[in-house]
Amino acid sequence: MSEQREFQAEVSRLLDIVANALYTEKEIFLRELISNASDACDRLRYDAISNPDLVKGDTEFKIRVWFDTDARTLTVSDNGIGMNREELIKNLGTIAHSGTRELVKHLNGDKQKNSSLIGQFGVGFYSVFMIANKVEVLSKRAGDEKAWIWISDGHGAYTIDESLKDERGTTITMHMKDEAFEFLIEERLKNVIKKYSDHISFPIVIGEAKDAKAVNTASALWMRAKADITPEQYKEFYRGVAGTIQMDEPWMTLHWHAEGNFEYHNLLFIPSMKPFDLYDPRRHHGVKLYVKRVFITDGVEGLIPPFLRFMKGVVDSEDLPLNISRELLQSNPVVAKMSTAITRKILGELEDKAKNDIKDFESFWSLFGPVLKEGLYDAHQYRDQLCRVSRFYSSKADGLTSLDEYLSRMQEGQEHIYYLSAGSVESARNSPQLEAFRAKDVEVLFMTDTIDEFWLPIQNEYKQKKLKSITRGSPDLAKIKSDKAEEPKDEKAKAGVAGLLSQMKEILKDEVKDVTISERLVGSPVCLVAPETDMDIHMQRVLKKSQHYDGKHQHILEVNDKHPVIRKLVDLSSSPANAETLRETTLLLLDQARIVEGESLKDPAGFVKRLNNAIEKGLISA
Ligand code: ADP
Ligand code: MG
Repeated sequence: MSEQREFQAEVSRLLDIVANALYTEKEIFLRELISNASDACDRLRYDAISNPDLVKGDTEFKIRVWFDTDARTLTVSDNGIGMNREELIKNLGTIAHSGTRELVKHLNGDKQKNSSLIGQFGVGFYSVFMIANKVEVLSKRAGDEKAWIWISDGHGAYTIDESLKDERGTTITMHMKDEAFEFLIEERLKNVIKKYSDHISFPIVIGEAKDAKAVNTASALWMRAKADITPEQYKEFYRGVAGTIQMDEPWMTLHWHAEGNFEYHNLLFIPSMKPFDLYDPRRHHGVKLYVKRVFITDGVEGLIPPFLRFMKGVVDSEDLPLNISRELLQSNPVVAKMSTAITRKILGELEDKAKNDIKDFESFWSLFGPVLKEGLYDAHQYRDQLCRVSRFYSSKADGLTSLDEYLSRMQEGQEHIYYLSAGSVESARNSPQLEAFRAKDVEVLFMTDTIDEFWLPIQNEYKQKKLKSITRGSPDLAKIKSDKAEEPKDEKAKAGVAGLLSQMKEILKDEVKDVTISERLVGSPVCLVAPETDMDIHMQRVLKKSQHYDGKHQHILEVNDKHPVIRKLVDLSSSPANAETLRETTLLLLDQARIVEGESLKDPAGFVKRLNNAIEKGLISA
């Protein structure tokens, strides 16, 4: 009995968009079907290692494409693993991947935007509704007796019914739309298969003849010599490798063969676009593991470290046993050793790129730099390489700079690598704490990624130089040579400043830990810093936001005793008659330091009142 069922709401939505010509290249539906057929053969080949009966009598995997001009149908068929009833319902009626489901929810009327969003994950099987107005999927799971047929016109619902099929596998018949007649021409089909599916490692044949010749090269692309592979072929392989369509070009292609203790072939890619789920904690890397050309599994934890989770491609090992259980792979020592070698190789290539083509490297770094820096936090064994690859914005360089370049620009007497944590490069550049460093021509690196707050406290050295925050503790600037001579201070002035500080401290006793003279300010009257033993102010804020932390650290207010406002306050502070002015100005100064730091004000109304009073006085005396 035929049963009618509705698509999951997100699928219906997706189908509407797909039917309205999502891609200009409608021909990609064939790439999608062939890629699914190839996956199905891969999966059965793997299962047959432990259960050879599954492929009994038919061990030659093959993908067939044929057409009927009179009936206007095109058919794609495979002898892979097939689907039972439940699998048809789940795989062709719902969107399994939660990230994809989320994305579909965000699709709207804007065609252009939709297609660029969808381009990031591909629509797989559903792309058939670009060219067909009715699709029949006849499938028989390897090892099962029963076959099932799934039929839909792509509008809201499908039917599913028991059926008959001799061989295992899946046969998909498309009733073509009028405008898709071109796909009922053999030459056209051949060209499309050559263009997108040449790298598929199973033979793809056109027609039903037993001895039909394969249209594709049908050998694993990663096993071929580099010289025999065109950039186009690499690109198509890359686009198909993760199972979903990747619409960008590979930013870097790494194809190599490792011999020695372990032998394996690698074809790996770094994308030029950021995957939409890069920061989804459930995301794993897109590198598939093969053993002697047999697909084993994808996303094996331990093969590619999380800080390289944007990688895509294939690793094909000659040493692992074919019948290795997927569960045991993670803890397999061969996998661990390959992982180390592969990671070192990738980092080495990145290091070269950063040295030889910094412009191009910057485009990579802006996408994946923060991910790579996660390794500085949790992958100690790669720390040195990661430090050499890492790039930073700084107070001196126009673009990005490396730690080694920073070292080469250090001033005489400078002992530390200085950095400033901030929410953005822009706010870092305008930070008052930077003033004295500018004046002494000492470079400061800007740390603006959230991850910086995590690795910096752990990795506090590079080539024996301490990484030191300029917003915490003493800046240690005195030893650094400067052209400008320090003006000698007379004793009387010193005593005046000390008097002011102790009064300010009293006024702010519930707000700050201390009020001190600043070594780091030039043009600003005040700034906030953290005590040497505390976390950076910016880090406290980041942690508060991510809710890992709710400690109440008190800051230190630093005062620039050369600034005219502070000098004036020193004068005023000698007479008790000025107590109220001193109090109001002190509170105003604290609030301005908070604003510059990006902190919120405890009493904004009070701040505005004080500010207006000050403006008023200024205007009256003007
Ligand atoms: P994806 O390939 O990215 O998983 P698709 O939309 O292309 O997404 O396919 C959805 C699912 O349908 C596949 O994951 C697979 O489980 C199943 N499927 C599609 N085509 C076949 C096939 N020819 N044989 C077996 N299963 C298939
Ligand atoms: Mg697919």
